Amino acid sequence: MSDVKKFKTESKRLLDLMINSIYTNKEIFLRELISNASDAIDKYHYLSLKDGNVPSKEYEIRIEVDKPNRKLTISDNGIGMDYDEIVNNLGTIAKSGSAEFLKNLDNADDKTKELEIIGQFGVGFYSAFMVAKKVVVETKSIHSEKAYCFSSEGTETYKIDEIEKDEVGSNITLYLRDNTDDDNYDKYLEDYEIEDLVKKYSDYVKYPIKMKQEEEIPLKDKKGKEIEGKTEKVLVDHTLNSMIPLWKRAKSEITDEMLNEFYKAKFNDYQDPMISLHISTEGMITYNALVFIPSKAPYDLYSDKYEKGLQLYTKGVFIMDKCKELVPDFLRFTKGLVDSSDLSLNISREMLQQNKQLEKIASSIEKKILAEFARLRDNDFEKYLKFFETYGINIKWGIYDGFGMNKDKLKDLLVYNTINEEKPITLKHYIDNMKEKQEFIYYASASSKEQVLAMPQMDLVKKQGYDVLILKDNIDEFVMQILQEYEGKKFKSINQGDLDLLSKEEKEKIEEVKKEKKSIIDKMKEILKDEVNDVVISSRLTDSPVCLVSTDGLSFEMEKVLAQNPIETNAKAGKVLEINPNHELFKAIEKVYDDNDDESLEDYANLLLSQALLMEGFQLKDPVKFSNTMCKLMIKASK
Ligand code: ADP
Repeated sequence: MSDVKKFKTESKRLLDLMINSIYTNKEIFLRELISNASDAIDKYHYLSLKDGNVPSKEYEIRIEVDKPNRKLTISDNGIGMDYDEIVNNLGTIAKSGSAEFLKNLDNADDKTKELEIIGQFGVGFYSAFMVAKKVVVETKSIHSEKAYCFSSEGTETYKIDEIEKDEVGSNITLYLRDNTDDDNYDKYLEDYEIEDLVKKYSDYVKYPIKMKQEEEIPLKDKKGKEIEGKTEKVLVDHTLNSMIPLWKRAKSEITDEMLNEFYKAKFNDYQDPMISLHISTEGMITYNALVFIPSKAPYDLYSDKYEKGLQLYTKGVFIMDKCKELVPDFLRFTKGLVDSSDLSLNISREMLQQNKQLEKIASSIEKKILAEFARLRDNDFEKYLKFFETYGINIKWGIYDGFGMNKDKLKDLLVYNTINEEKPITLKHYIDNMKEKQEFIYYASASSKEQVLAMPQMDLVKKQGYDVLILKDNIDEFVMQILQEYEGKKFKSINQGDLDLLSKEEKEKIEEVKKEKKSIIDKMKEILKDEVNDVVISSRLTDSPVCLVSTDGLSFEMEKVLAQNPIETNAKAGKVLEINPNHELFKAIEKVYDDNDDESLEDYANLLLSQALLMEGFQLKDPVKFSNTMCKLMIKASK
């Protein structure tokens, strides 16, 4: 019996696409065929579990190479196909809505068309035609006495013949295409290439993928003794895949040791990961994931070249490396893999962004990772601090990024050093330890506690015993701007705006002083009008003579950060010079003012400003003038 049949219309179109494929990733054909083989064994196995008449057996997928004839065969001892199944499964695209979909694609350009189809459908079996000019399927179903052979050269028709085949299962033979200038198909006949492809895409298929490979063994004499220096080549069965999807095992079965070894082997690290996370969920979305945080941040983490993402598997079959849709930017340092049964095997990179399932998985993974960080923070704070030291900057960027759209899920992960505490603390800890009358969460940008404590703006804050967050990273002040508040308490820079530290009486007193000293302050304002926005009597200084504060809005720190950015060079913080009316120095200034010594007053004003600028870490515009004025005053004082 030999039946020649025509492919169904939509199948033919799909075939045409495969045959003329410009898809560069042709090697996936092997993954597709192995995956089909694995599915077929799954089905057989399932049947054997349910039906006493179907014997269980040693399952295997076998790859055979026939170099002289340029043939590659993938065999399985799975469920097989009967006649109707061949017609329905291989002669037709059995997918619902596929014809409709193809029709809609008529307007798209060829490249998109191809990618979308490869993305949307189980092009699975047909992908063989990307590398083969002829495909032959010999198969015997567990439900059928007879065995059949499907063969096609991928044009209009295919042929089905009855054949003899003892074992239930399928052998798919590809007659490889001739090499072209662009494509070398011979490589699929090389042991090492096949081995690589299996390792890359099908390593975790649960059944052994076997191939006979040449091995050199010592030649033996008739008595079975090895003959020295002589070897012979024999074909030995090799299993190419590891078959162990670690992530699919029960949580109780997975040890830290196993996770560590897996991580190191898979992600080429020589150190154990800092954090390992095994996620296994079922229900609305079903997936397993292994997520790792490396002990050291990857050296190129902050370079353009770094690619974030987790490996993506569906049903144990490798789909792609570094699927960036699976992790948000602020978790770009995570490594790992996700295996889901909810995703199509043929999901393409180009289609990922619109994929709702993937979006759900990504959002679930993000939640789990953040929950793990929170767990670590609450249960092993020492380790958490180590984590934050290495990766905290990413969390900070995450808060700032996208106008703060992720701030609420990240803010509790922040920790800061403060002036009152030995170790960094969370914002929650800060709030819980606020003084009774304290209204604000205070912060100061500096590189050390000592530096903050030495700031003149700290005078009153210190007296009140308020704690102050020490912001060390450039991004920190931007983070504060985005957060605005935490649990209803506003953030306040100790050198910005009004600190609101005084009682009513104290405020009234200051107002009085302000009125009294108005004329001298006005005079100084006039002198410094090109340098600062304002000169005011300070309500925050007790011990120091002057300080510089910024108006609300852009802070000094932000000005400095922005100045490093070549695009935004003109952003300037508003500068206010605050003067302590109770300081001896102010009395000296008042004296020259009263004496109408304009020249000295100008020198004093400029010196005060220079000091304040220096304390804030700014560079002086004219250091020589500063030095000359100093000299002049010192000489004057010594006379
Ligand atoms: P998919 O695997 O996504 O369903 P394919 O085009 O790869 O799409 O395969 C179509 C159908 O052909 C499969 O669903 C399966 O029923 C059948 N099939 C393919 N390969 C085999 C095989 N090795 N053994 C048994 N059935 C197979």
